Amino acid sequence: MGRNLGSKCKLCRREGMKLFLKGNRCSMEKCAFAKRPTPPGMHTRVSSKPSYYALQLREKQRAKWMYGMLEKQFRRFFHVATKTKGATGRALLQMLERRVDNVIFRSLFTTSREAARQMVLHGFVLVNGKRVNIPSFLVSAGETIEIKAKDNTKKALKETYDANAKERSIVAWLSVDKDALSAKILRLPEKEDIVLPINEQLIVELYSK
Ligand code: SF4
Repeated sequence: MGRNLGSKCKLCRREGMKLFLKGNRCSMEKCAFAKRPTPPGMHTRVSSKPSYYALQLREKQRAKWMYGMLEKQFRRFFHVATKTKGATGRALLQMLERRVDNVIFRSLFTTSREAARQMVLHGFVLVNGKRVNIPSFLVSAGETIEIKAKDNTKKALKETYDANAKERSIVAWLSVDKDALSAKILRLPEKEDIVLPINEQLIVELYSK
């Protein structure tokens, strides 16, 4: 299972916005984008009017990085989205949100999707009582995710939840039980639930060429 091992902060600088890929650090003064909001590299002069293709590409890259995915996997998600009923862009966003690592992040048990991904990979996550160790596993409406951890880890997760709850709210399609370290998927996320700086239509246009 591959993942991007390069600098995450450079991705934010490339996109010209905070992508919040490093948990708590993103809200601190240490945030690389806050300190240096220019694109990485020596030749950072940006064309005043990017081409339409450049806009499409940036949109796709941003979505891919926010969810911690590599190109091949992201393209596979898109391919599956084209086979579902309704608008492809909406289906793609819905699939991204249904990833089990994203659900843990949205449930406020971690400060980043990367931390949630680690939790899944290390076998701490159950979906409907069965261990799932694939971060891209897609949850469905009615399912319950649960984090199985030792007592000291449980305490740390609850503290993380409390800290996250001061900055983020739980999405409407999840019901979270902090004490049980679990979350129930009430329904699938709709476009209106996904408030991210992503124009999914541009991604559809890019991949449909
Ligand atoms: Fe992006 Fe700042 Fe977080 Fe680095 S610390 S990933 S630059 S938001």
